[in-house]
Amino acid sequence: METVVTGMILFAAPNGEFDKRVVILTKERGKITAFARGARRQNSSLLAATNPFAFGTFSVYEGKNAYTLVRAQITNYFRELASSLEAAYYGFYFLELAGYDTQENEDGTQMLKLLYQSLRALLNTRLDNRLVRAVFEMRTLVIQGEYPEMFECVLCNKTEGLKRLVLEKNGMICEDCCKECIDGIELKNSVLYTFQYVISAPLERLYTFTLTQETLRDFQKIVKKLCRRYQDREFKSLEVLEEMSSLQGRNLNV
Ligand SMILES: [Zn+2]
Repeated sequence: METVVTGMILFAAPNGEFDKRVVILTKERGKITAFARGARRQNSSLLAATNPFAFGTFSVYEGKNAYTLVRAQITNYFRELASSLEAAYYGFYFLELAGYDTQENEDGTQMLKLLYQSLRALLNTRLDNRLVRAVFEMRTLVIQGEYPEMFECVLCNKTEGLKRLVLEKNGMICEDCCKECIDGIELKNSVLYTFQYVISAPLERLYTFTLTQETLRDFQKIVKKLCRRYQDREFKSLEVLEEMSSLQGRNLNV
């Protein structure tokens, strides 16, 4: 039976002489693998539709082990990403991370929306890509449900005077409780508010702020720690991004 899903191509690889194997992040079925027959032929209507970043609706047939992609209607190819090598590599990293965090047959709505908004944010020249990356990583943790409590003290539930982030306790503790517990990292209010915003803002409004270099640096540092704690794995595309940036003398960390 033919099914139409909304999604984005995360990954594409040649399969045989003329076919492609693609991984699609879909709203309806999470991450699925599909085979596109003849998609490598120059005159195939699936040629461009099966490239990474292609976003739209895909008509698929469900098989025993995989799907067959028969048609696609692409509304955004994100072709502008190709005009900046760095933005493109951030984009590939986002695709890899989104795929890693999503399984088949789960609801992919949130992740797909986050991915779409984040790619658009990479194309917004007023936003620092390092901010976009940290926001994307943090919100990914939120979608997965693995992140620290940032809105109230994990010891006394007070919502004011939050002072230190204690990873071992999985959240913030307040000034009063700090007297008994000296662990953790002290967060400036600007950094705490950034976390609270990134955790709770509607996805459509996620990338509507900028930070001072100092706040961005602190935010980035803590997001890095959280990723290491909750999502410990190496991403190939991230290694490439890091290598490329160091060759160009650019620093990925503020
Ligand atoms: Zn407290």
